[in-house]
Amino acid sequence: MKLIIEGLTKTYANGVKALDNVSLEIGKGMFGLLGPNGAGKSSLMRTLAGLQDADQGTLMLNDIDILKSPQELRKNLGYLPQEFGVYPKITAYQLLNHLAILKGVKNKGERKDLVEHLLQKVNLFDKRHKVVKGFSGGMKQRIGIAQALIGNPQLIIVDEPTAGLDPGERNRFHNLLADVGSEVIVILSTHIVDDVRELCTEMAIMNLGRIIYNGGPEDAIATLEGQVWEKRIGREELNDYKKQYQVISEKMIAGKPLIHIQSEVMPAEGFKAVAPNLEDVFFSFIMSSSESVTL
Ligand code: ADP
Repeated sequence: MKLIIEGLTKTYANGVKALDNVSLEIGKGMFGLLGPNGAGKSSLMRTLAGLQDADQGTLMLNDIDILKSPQELRKNLGYLPQEFGVYPKITAYQLLNHLAILKGVKNKGERKDLVEHLLQKVNLFDKRHKVVKGFSGGMKQRIGIAQALIGNPQLIIVDEPTAGLDPGERNRFHNLLADVGSEVIVILSTHIVDDVRELCTEMAIMNLGRIIYNGGPEDAIATLEGQVWEKRIGREELNDYKKQYQVISEKMIAGKPLIHIQSEVMPAEGFKAVAPNLEDVFFSFIMSSSESVTL
């Protein structure tokens, strides 16, 4: 089972080059596509889902040429878009039953078995007769995964799935994705570094339409070994530090910024060497790729 993306390029009518020669090889399991807003993730996901064209490049899912035969792909695709539109006044069971009809599951008995199986899988069987509109964000996302699984797809695309979920819901959703991802190709597109850290063995980082890293999260982290330094500073000092050093991340702890900077040598008194994490990698890669484009 393999998805091969080669030389994919797309420029919109307004001149924005959303995809710039994107090439990736993705096998079975959870693949994380990480990038800031505007990086081109949704453009790539929509092209993969057969919903929009590319100017150049090829997309092969096993022996299916996605750009030439989008209808062939559809039988093998599950797609959970950023905003999964939920129908009002319809129960979880009715919604999945309806979507199964649309996906061509014609036999009534077969459809009943499938819908019940999916409801069990996403842990919503007890809620099957409840109106979906009243579901929490996490429950709606789980219904979104259930509908994506109709038809046993080989490729599942999930676009920004955890935005707006509380920690408990996010955990349940992660467990479900990990379970699904052991059997098929799942591409998880997100700007949330923790989603990728917790779930994916392979990943790519995207910025300004380009793939700027492709490999395992641990290998990415190893590239920054010995180069990340941490310091608590005063809020009023933040701008000065940003001018003077390569600040790759900052977070507030008890009202004071804790900054991480990237440097091959100890930058100054008061800095402490820390083990790099995936967030450091993400910001460091994004910063250096943005600089190389601006220069
Ligand atoms: P992401 O999903 O990573 O946030 P997108 O693929 O949505 O990125 O967007 C990539 C770039 O393409 C952005 O600059 C965005 O404004 C632009 N863009 C996206 N869709 C369109 C469109 N239909 N027409 C014109 N520009 C678009």
